[in-house]
Amino acid sequence: MSVLLRGICAAKGVAMGRLYVADRSQLEVTERLVAPHQVEAEVVRLFAGVEAARRQLQAVKQRIPTDTSADIASFIDTHLLMLQDSALTTVPAQIIRERGCNAEWALKVQRDDLVRVFEAMDDGYLRTRKDDVEHVVARIQHALLEEGDGDRMAGEDALAGHVVLARDLSPAELVLLNHQGVVGIITEFGGPTSHSAILARSLRLPSLVGLHQAHAYLKDDDTVIVDGREGVVIIAPDARTIDYYQGLKENIYAHHKRRERLRDKPVVTRDGHAIRLHANIELPEDVVAVRQVNAAGVGLYRTEFLFMNRVTPPDEEEQVEAYASVVLALDGAPVTIRTLDVGADKSCDSVRGGRESVCINPALGLRAVRLCLRETGIFLTQLRAILRAAALGEVRLMVPMVSTVAEVHQVRQLVEMARQSLQQDGLEHAAGIPIGAMVEVPAIALAADLFAPHLDFLSIGTNDLIQYTLAIDRLDDEVNYLYDPLHPAVLRLIDTILQAGAAAGIPVSMCGEMAGNSSYTRLLLGLGLREFSVPPNALLEIKQAINENDVQDVAAIAREFLGVVDGEARRRLLDRLGIDP
Ligand code: PEP
Ligand code: MG
Repeated sequence: MSVLLRGICAAKGVAMGRLYVADRSQLEVTERLVAPHQVEAEVVRLFAGVEAARRQLQAVKQRIPTDTSADIASFIDTHLLMLQDSALTTVPAQIIRERGCNAEWALKVQRDDLVRVFEAMDDGYLRTRKDDVEHVVARIQHALLEEGDGDRMAGEDALAGHVVLARDLSPAELVLLNHQGVVGIITEFGGPTSHSAILARSLRLPSLVGLHQAHAYLKDDDTVIVDGREGVVIIAPDARTIDYYQGLKENIYAHHKRRERLRDKPVVTRDGHAIRLHANIELPEDVVAVRQVNAAGVGLYRTEFLFMNRVTPPDEEEQVEAYASVVLALDGAPVTIRTLDVGADKSCDSVRGGRESVCINPALGLRAVRLCLRETGIFLTQLRAILRAAALGEVRLMVPMVSTVAEVHQVRQLVEMARQSLQQDGLEHAAGIPIGAMVEVPAIALAADLFAPHLDFLSIGTNDLIQYTLAIDRLDDEVNYLYDPLHPAVLRLIDTILQAGAAAGIPVSMCGEMAGNSSYTRLLLGLGLREFSVPPNALLEIKQAINENDVQDVAAIAREFLGVVDGEARRRLLDRLGIDP
């Protein structure tokens, strides 16, 4: 009999395959007493397990395709470093000696201690470290229990065609799974605007998040269908269900193929409004997808991915190489490079190291531009690299999480310092660069008319703007039902920003996920948005929605929509805007 589990859609599409339960922390470990004369042999067994885990990780690292970003390899390096740490070697050995227990149990005791410490700190960065500890400990325990190198994750093809179930996945883990040929993802936690979800969409990996009890219902090798459109997982589907989904997959594929015909068509509404349609990228290699859909440029390059999962930040040369490769691949089209946006859910060892503060609300803390203005050494290196890459094409510099005009002035001063230092060093660089801000904090949205004169462009980051306006943690699936891009407060802010940009004569783009959802295209055109930046795989769908609409038809409806909060009038307007209630 088929069983159906419901979750939250993170990436559309349909995946079918056998299940792989990746959550190593679910491993059953029991305590076994070791006779006094065998205690030292057990310590040796522990170290053999650590060594086996190290060999597995080395094997995984070697199998990573050469075109994978450096981030992924360094994510594995972090785990390799942890395997050398006394916390996971000397301390468990001590526990074996003191308690006379087996190695797996000693690791469990030590892991529980470390996790308790991390959890008490309640800090985003440390929470991620906690997950790393769990992953590494589970890897050693597996090696011990399997008495060898039987690591299913390590094989290059072992996961090909599988759907993976995990408690949660970091963006780096997701990229790795994608390279290993995984076809679908299910996680118990996480929201649809988390960075992992955004990445899953850009990798076209059907994904569901927020299936809290999934581990209780699913086990290794179950046949499952992930329906990323309806947000359901079907366990043990019968033949008719499989046929239905097979047909659906073929339809989706045919639909994509038809859309490809739009690739070289201009982006213009039926009544003649030309629209700029740019793409969002996370990694330099994403430019391949950008070119495939013929985007007019890159409207958001999330540079923080270059800084993640590594011990030290990338130096200037590495950054120049990454940024320049994007600028050159775009061949004269504009590239909007966003400066480092770490902190909150985007933890980054290389930038914050062990200097984390204990903060209750990391999303409201020292993140993005606030962190860059504190860590000016790291920031100046990035600014120098951006200015150097800007000598090769049209580059704009975009600052995330701006909330005061003083931050804009400080960034401008640092850009000028970076420029002067490059001049002194005799390195080629752009003399000037347009500087814009992401509008993600309601404060700047409300006062956009006061900010606009200080900026060369604005870009609306709806993912954070909605989170901060509606007071909803974008990572928390428990409150995800409140995450509403159509909330009148959100729409009024968008309207205010667009009007402020128009009055100041500066372009306003939207690069948050709302821009990439075709349900909202009509409404956004009606509100006056003329520049969209969307994930490459959503671009042709958005182009189609733009090309099929008349601005004059929707402007009045969109304006009316700003004034309704509920009821029949709202339902009527939703219908006229083509949005499913
Ligand atoms: C946003 O907040 O809308 C945005 C584009 O930034 P990120 O998703 O990277 O936080
Ligand atoms: Mg943001």
